[in-house]
Amino acid sequence: MSNRRNFLKYSGLAAGSLLLPAPMPAAKGCPSVFKKSGKSTMMKLRFRPYELQLRHVFTIANNSRTTTPVMLTEVEFDGIIGYGEASMPPYLGESHKTATEFLSKVDLSSFNDPFELEDIIQYIDSLAAGNYAAKASVDIALHDLIGKILGQPWHKLWGLNPSKTPNTSFTIGMDTPDVVREKVHEADIYKILKVKLGRDNDREMIQTIRSVTDKPICVDVNQGWKDKHMALDMIHWLATQGVVFVEQPMSRLAVDDMAWLTENSPLPTMADEAVQTVYDVLSVHKVYSGINIKLMKCGGMRNAHKMADMAKILGMKVMIGCMTETSCAVSAAAQLSPIADWADLDGNLLISNDIYDGVNVVDGKMTLSQLPGIGIRMKSK
Ligand code: MG
Repeated sequence: MSNRRNFLKYSGLAAGSLLLPAPMPAAKGCPSVFKKSGKSTMMKLRFRPYELQLRHVFTIANNSRTTTPVMLTEVEFDGIIGYGEASMPPYLGESHKTATEFLSKVDLSSFNDPFELEDIIQYIDSLAAGNYAAKASVDIALHDLIGKILGQPWHKLWGLNPSKTPNTSFTIGMDTPDVVREKVHEADIYKILKVKLGRDNDREMIQTIRSVTDKPICVDVNQGWKDKHMALDMIHWLATQGVVFVEQPMSRLAVDDMAWLTENSPLPTMADEAVQTVYDVLSVHKVYSGINIKLMKCGGMRNAHKMADMAKILGMKVMIGCMTETSCAVSAAAQLSPIADWADLDGNLLISNDIYDGVNVVDGKMTLSQLPGIGIRMKSK
């Protein structure tokens, strides 16, 4: 009921934009982009709010939640529809209200060629500062549209080998030992686990997992450690426990402490909260060993690809991550994953009301579909 109320509330704010009446199937076939007759060759953006239901209460160092608001978008051109999504966990500051306000400003009617992505994305970026998830929702839909027009998935258009996708990690939130053991069993098909640390039971969390599995673990502290010496001691201990890297161990603002920690750490350190867009990559070089790229932080697939290239040029590690998202945004990010050293793309597996089918995890490994664009289709009812 509250979902419906939210939908109606934000529908009102979206006056002037055409909201999706219901999920629509992607257009079949691959009509020519130059064909003018019959169908509109003006690009149209549609969007509607949606609430993701999480399978488990999700707890990290500084909050817990059971739902995530997202915005589902579509860009239609010449009878072909590209899908997109904005995922907006509350700590990032975007919401159904801000995304509705932002997307209501987007007018794609002046562009008559979706291939002019650089110009279109510059225009979208110029509409307002921030709003990275909302921007990503348009960028993803445009990429999906272009891939469908060309009849190719984006990993191919980027020249990436789909057999090089990394194993994806499965995230275990903070919980009681019994629940943690149960979640480890649930994650049976995954070859690598991701564990949230940063409270006062870090060793207990790792020991609980080690009591049931010897799979490699990556650790995400979400800025939870306050002292660099304590952090280094903990990383030395984690290195003896089969941990492969430590993500955002300290505050994103603790630049000098992080540079010291990275220099002395036996494990790679990964920037997440400390790196948002392509403009931040240089500033975390030599402060962290690598970066966690997320479409919702950087504004979409085009910027994510630029960040990955930049990090590689600087000799940094690359990880592709996600928020809790449907298979839409997760599959979009997965198109880039053959470039990554690590993938943390389990956001669609943490929810119970996904409306798309897309990337699959087979034997712990991201397996890209050969569908064009971002590689998804609407789930059949
Ligand atoms: Mg993180």
